[in-house]
Amino acid sequence: MADRHGADVVVLGGGPIGLATAWRAAQRGLDVLVLDAGAPAAWQVAAGMLAPATEAEYGEEALLELGLRSAASFESFAAELTETAGQDAGFRRSGTLVVARDRDDAEALDRLFEFRTSLGLEVTRLRPTPARRLEPALAPTVRLALEFPHDHSIDPRRMVCALEVAVRRSGGEIRHGANVVRLDAQDERVTGVQLETGERISAAQVLVAGGAWTSTLAGLPDEVRVPVRPVKGQVLRLRDPAGPGLVQRSIRTLDAYLVPRADGGYVLGATMEDQGFDLTPTAGGVFELLRDLSEVLPGLFEMQIEEVLCGLRPATPDNRPAVGPGALDGLVWSTGHFRNGILLTPVSAELGAAVLAGESLPEWARDCAPERFTTKAAA
Ligand SMILES: Cc1cc2nc3c(=O)[nH]c(=O)nc-3n(C[C@H](O)[C@H](O)[C@H](O)COP(=O)(O)OP(=O)(O)OC[C@H]3O[C@@H](n4cnc5c(N)ncnc54)[C@H](O)[C@@H]3O)c2cc1C
Repeated sequence: MADRHGADVVVLGGGPIGLATAWRAAQRGLDVLVLDAGAPAAWQVAAGMLAPATEAEYGEEALLELGLRSAASFESFAAELTETAGQDAGFRRSGTLVVARDRDDAEALDRLFEFRTSLGLEVTRLRPTPARRLEPALAPTVRLALEFPHDHSIDPRRMVCALEVAVRRSGGEIRHGANVVRLDAQDERVTGVQLETGERISAAQVLVAGGAWTSTLAGLPDEVRVPVRPVKGQVLRLRDPAGPGLVQRSIRTLDAYLVPRADGGYVLGATMEDQGFDLTPTAGGVFELLRDLSEVLPGLFEMQIEEVLCGLRPATPDNRPAVGPGALDGLVWSTGHFRNGILLTPVSAELGAAVLAGESLPEWARDCAPERFTTKAAA
């Protein structure tokens, strides 16, 4: 098929990362075309917790710093998005409560509490009565709780809808049903992309933001690739027939979580499974989620099941995203956001757009540089 004139920047992937980066790049005056395949995307399934403090892990300090930066900018990002798009981006100032079901959980929460306070994170340790004062629907058997007042949430489906409008209003173009199967490159430089239909689209730069599907792209030699693998997560989308208000905060146990939306909808998640590209929900997965959360929130049993879904988290070997210039001229990565891609949307968009505009990664973002995975240096 004949070449189609492309754009300054082709963005491969119309998920939160691709769209938000396209929005920021269009705001910088770049001519941006987003291509989206309509592949099963993580954002359609994600709970939308913005929870860097709750999820802080030993040995992941660089990721924590990135998450805290993004969380700090999230409210203004969502407000700007809501205003640009003229529709609600779905942000909720909710906070998060992590609860212990039994003595073992309580001991684990105490260790988490110490670790988080040692990092200077804001967290309050609550005995059962004050915890139930905050969230009266909690079971009387709850042993202990940790409150994270700054770990809020957003509805990723609303956010992505708003991002699509914002990209278009800022001058960008989006094509749905555009499955990129190959990156075209010549003389160490990316020249564009090829679609499943055979159509070729030329571009001065290509931003790869294909989530877990990034690894299926043809046309890149191994030494310039960022390794991304899918990590399956099962969730249930629930609705309380009594309307919103059973809980105000995101409620978590050590194994599961329930995230409330403003309209009486809830997301109960999530399993963590290395099963390749399998997207089949299982009885065991659903059972575990319902069992874990219902022990601390018996009101869960009254809820209606609207959807049972699986999504694929895009994971790199070190769990940090790869955002920045690739090892070919014109190639830019923003992928591998694993379980934090919604949280990391604002910060990844700023970084990706800056790189597309010719700037270097700032020092604080060097731990995300894709070149840590490639045997060929960044171009
Ligand atoms: C169960 C579950 C729960 C989660 N909960 C949270 C959470 O609470 N908080 C949080 O921060 N993160 C969460 N995540 C992680 C988050 O969803 C991801 O990190 C994030 O969606 C990654 O964004 P992305 O745009 O890179 O990829 P995706 O959201 O997967 O989007 C990728 C897009 O690229 C398109 N695409 C792929 N390949 C091609 C191609 N070849 N050509 C054209 N288009 C293509 C797809 O159609 C898709 O639209 C969760 C994930 C899962 C699975």
